Amino acid sequence: MFSTLFQRGRNKAELNSAMRYEDLTKAFAELRPGFSPQEAVTEASLCIKCEDAPCAKACPAGIDVSKFIRQIALRNFTGAIKVIKENNILAGICARICPQSLLCEGQCNSSELSKPIKIGRLQRFAADQEMAKGPKPLRSLREKAIRVAVVVSGPDR
Ligand code: SF4
Repeated sequence: MFSTLFQRGRNKAELNSAMRYEDLTKAFAELRPGFSPQEAVTEASLCIKCEDAPCAKACPAGIDVSKFIRQIALRNFTGAIKVIKENNILAGICARICPQSLLCEGQCNSSELSKPIKIGRLQRFAADQEMAKGPKPLRSLREKAIRVAVVVSGPDR
């Protein structure tokens, strides 16, 4: 719809009036539906709780993957997001954009038995459960003796 308006060279006011909330909601709708609580619990129950937990070792954010999955299997969804947020406050975003097949899911021992645990979708579920209760203020990560640098770039003027 927006591209059609652009193609016709309509003016900005016309374009703005076309950008109704419903249009934006549709334009940014999720491509895949998330897990229902029962689906999440069922998937989490497939985790074999590996002693070495290669999934966690492969997580660049250092999330204790098997621990948060265990919380979901126990229906403790609040506990699950707490475990994730100990190391990653951007749980919902990373669940959607992280290449899990190359990281945690790529190392999942369960793939030897059948297929890897859907870790990314479980993380998304935990984050979405929290979001459904309303926005929460960001809190700082617990202090760590590390330094970080943030490098940004933008368009040239
Ligand atoms: S590697 Fe897979 S099966 Fe093992 S603890 Fe991690 S998620 Fe569970």
